[in-house]
Amino acid sequence: MSEQIEKTNCLIRGSGPAGYTAAIYASRADLKPIVYEGLQPGGQLTTTTEVDNFPGYPEGITGPEMMEDIKKQAARFEADIRFGMITEVNLSKRPFIAKADDGKILEAETIIIATGATAKWLGMSSESEYNGYGVSACATCDGFFYKGKDVAVVGGGDTAAEEATYLAKLCNKVYLIHRRDELRASKAMQAKVLNTANIEVLWDHVPKEIVGKQEGFAKSVTGAILQNVKTGKETKINVDGFFVAIGHKPNTDIFKDQLNTNDQGYIVTLPDSTKTSVEGVFACGDVQDHVFRQAVTAAGTGCMSAIEAERFLSS
Ligand code: FAD
Ligand code: NAP
Repeated sequence: MSEQIEKTNCLIRGSGPAGYTAAIYASRADLKPIVYEGLQPGGQLTTTTEVDNFPGYPEGITGPEMMEDIKKQAARFEADIRFGMITEVNLSKRPFIAKADDGKILEAETIIIATGATAKWLGMSSESEYNGYGVSACATCDGFFYKGKDVAVVGGGDTAAEEATYLAKLCNKVYLIHRRDELRASKAMQAKVLNTANIEVLWDHVPKEIVGKQEGFAKSVTGAILQNVKTGKETKINVDGFFVAIGHKPNTDIFKDQLNTNDQGYIVTLPDSTKTSVEGVFACGDVQDHVFRQAVTAAGTGCMSAIEAERFLSS
């Protein structure tokens, strides 16, 4: 049986603020876009609680609700939104060929890449051993399990600050482990951390090992060994949950030999544009933005991608 090829003017890969916004604009420009949402429909913001800095929500909104709103807006203009991954692309000639994990083969006149970024891990073997058994990269998803308990968060950026303040509301005590003596997080987030009584910042510390116990098949975290990077001194903290919040890696693996990327793997786009090194392929949001990485900037570049795709097709 021959595989059926589906043709589209515009294939959007990813469903965070960038992908859904691209879908709104591409649908309204009558490109009839097909959106593959990937494994995380709604993107990174579905792992957070309050979003207070996206325009249009004067009282703030939760990340999952906001992403549902943007999705509904794209669906209102009949974007074809599908749950699934694009697993392969061939950008060597137009129309581009993409394969999806639902078995579909797509022939796309333009592709908008909006695959964002995923959490980075520290790389300790104990981190993988206890992943899902006390080790997590998502406080919103897993914080509930540590209600009234002591937990640790690693990192010094906005994500770590946000995870720590979120957990502080649920947990007895939160250790924020940071490798320097100054947080990278925005001033507003720093103030929240430093003004929360049950957060203790362990400055200049890095985790050496996560420790735990196994009872039958049940594994759980009981603590972590930390090292002071200035003195070399090791200490142990007793915690039940260990949250890693040290940043994200752009999801560009299937494009890396086909598009120009920088040394961290971010897709390089032309200045003031979302055009990539291949004509007809556009990149928006965190996958091409290592500087701002905000929902509103992702949405803004999503809009740019759709407008540029429409202009490319009509030129
Ligand atoms: P993402 O949101 O990362 O979405 C990427 C999408 O690509 C996902 O839908 C995924 O399923 C999809 N995908 C990946 N691979 C494939 C594939 N092979 N095929 C198809 N789809 C694929 N920013 C703010 O402005 N305000 C905040 O309050 C805020 N809070 C945050 C809290 C946390 C915990 C985190 C981690 C980030 C926060 N940010 C916040 C940053 C914000 O979430 C990101 O800047 C934004 O989500 C980036 O949007 P994006 O569309 O580029 O990508
Ligand atoms: P980030 O800004 O890159 O911060 C990563 C943090 O982890 C840094 O403090 C870094 O330390 C630390 N780190 C990195 N690798 C480490 C390692 N191997 N061991 C120990 N520590 C390590 O990442 P992010 O916090 O995920 O934020 C990403 C983007 O999303 C940012 O632009 C941020 O503003 C945005 N965001 C916004 C909000 C909000 O507006 N409310 C919330 C969350 C995220 P150093 O500081 O020493 O480098």
